[in-house]
Amino acid sequence: MNVKPKVLIVDDRVKNIIVLEEMLADLDIELMRASSGQEAIDKASKHEFAIVLMDVRMPGMDGFETVEIIRKDPLNELLPIIYITAFYNEDYYRVKGIKTGAVDFITKPIIPDILIGKVSVFMKLYKQRKNLEEEIVWRAQIEKDLKKAKDLAEDATRAKQKFLSTMSHEIRTPLNAIINTVNLLKEEEPREDQTESLDILKFSADNLLQIVNDILDYSKIGAGKIEFEKVEFEMRKLLTGVRQSFNFEAKRRKLEMEFNMDKSIPPVVVGDSIRLTQILINLVGNAVKFTEKGSITIEAKPVKRHNSQIDIEFRIIDTGIGIPKDKITFIFESFTQASSSTTRKYGGTGLGLAITQKLVELQGGELKVESEVGKGSIFSFSLPFLVSDKPFVEEDAMQKSSFHSLKGLRVLVVEDNLVNQKIVSKYLSKWEAMIEIAENGRIAVEMVKKNRYDLVLMDLHMPEMSGYEATLKIRTLKEKYYKDLPIIALTASVFLEDREKIFEFGMTGFITKPFNPKELFWTISPFLKKRD
Ligand code: ADP
Repeated sequence: MNVKPKVLIVDDRVKNIIVLEEMLADLDIELMRASSGQEAIDKASKHEFAIVLMDVRMPGMDGFETVEIIRKDPLNELLPIIYITAFYNEDYYRVKGIKTGAVDFITKPIIPDILIGKVSVFMKLYKQRKNLEEEIVWRAQIEKDLKKAKDLAEDATRAKQKFLSTMSHEIRTPLNAIINTVNLLKEEEPREDQTESLDILKFSADNLLQIVNDILDYSKIGAGKIEFEKVEFEMRKLLTGVRQSFNFEAKRRKLEMEFNMDKSIPPVVVGDSIRLTQILINLVGNAVKFTEKGSITIEAKPVKRHNSQIDIEFRIIDTGIGIPKDKITFIFESFTQASSSTTRKYGGTGLGLAITQKLVELQGGELKVESEVGKGSIFSFSLPFLVSDKPFVEEDAMQKSSFHSLKGLRVLVVEDNLVNQKIVSKYLSKWEAMIEIAENGRIAVEMVKKNRYDLVLMDLHMPEMSGYEATLKIRTLKEKYYKDLPIIALTASVFLEDREKIFEFGMTGFITKPFNPKELFWTISPFLKKRD
């Protein structure tokens, strides 16, 4: 604080003021004078004083009256006042002085050391108060700045989320078209050389989809938006599924795939099966990718059981290239690979392990790695699950039965994208369903009013009228048929919020794009039976 504290000396006799000024000359303060009560009141209303030294006996307005008036100004309510009086010992003065809020008395004749000592204490207090006031102002400003920054950050996160959701739709829609067209072409008995090109096309498209999904997942984790489901699932089925999805690749590369699940793991557990699959696919995928010869082993065993909770440890063991000791801590960082030649040789973005580690940690586990160059790597983690007493998960009819004809199923496909229309129609006609097409929500509502359908496949983002709005319109139509009509959303979004929105708008379910034909079939086939 640069400004000197001000001290006001009030006395009707200039001689007395001068004496006081001389006594206080060495203090780092600014001294001001007032020779009457009125002058003191005027000055107190204009300046901020650290302390007032007030003579009690003055002609006209005495010291007590003066202080009473000064105190009426809210800014001076707490102004420290020291009365200078020869009558301090008389009770009347003492009581009156205290009533008007004196902080101290100094009796005449004044002893310089006492005056200097008392004034110094008040100067210190004043400085401390000023510092505190400044700090409060500073903190309030910081708080304001922080709030502003927080609001801005929240806005930015919302904008990012919106951008990602839009981009996911925009990128996944054409990808959907590419992947499904490749699938269709592969079923049309291509020549051998064409099959090879189609495989490359499919590999690249799948890879691109994986990258888009990785980036979306990664930013979702960053925004703290990831949520975990609790569903019943069969652990053995999940693990065999993961293993099977690598069978082809392992066979092609002559790698042994071993699988070892401890018998004491309960057949059915409760947890997030989708995320567990994602974690395992990432780790087994890396193991396969980085192993030239030998084997990949997937192991699962219980490590702790407490009431209905069981911690299961998973180990993915490979005999691959291994990871150098000095690189091990880096591989979990985003966009990092053990060697700069990795992308060239093996592909990948370096995001897989960063996501996998977060997915494990967010569920209360820890991802560990042991590795030796040239010998192989072991990635392990344990996760908690709840034990279910069921011997197996009830399968719905759709999972049990195999592909069959959808003859007689009347489907309305609401989709603005021509390629997507074609792909969905091709599959549906292959399964002998009857198809009609609406290019947007508005046309769909009209068609639903005029015809009877068993099912509507509804794209969400369309010109003129969105899928959400069209569903709302259909659901508010009077007849029961409109309330019961199954409406399945076709969505490219991977965000949980968007999926919740689908149900909020009255849709029956959803299929994610790029859809795989099996998923499409199993999602819609139950509605064939419902009609009967
Ligand atoms: P990506 O596989 O996309 O490059 P990851 O985050 O999954 O990214 O892996 C990061 C890096 O860790 C890989 O590039 C590789 O160098 C190393 N790595 C991961 N798993 C293994 C493994 N099983 N054996 C050898 N190296 C591995």
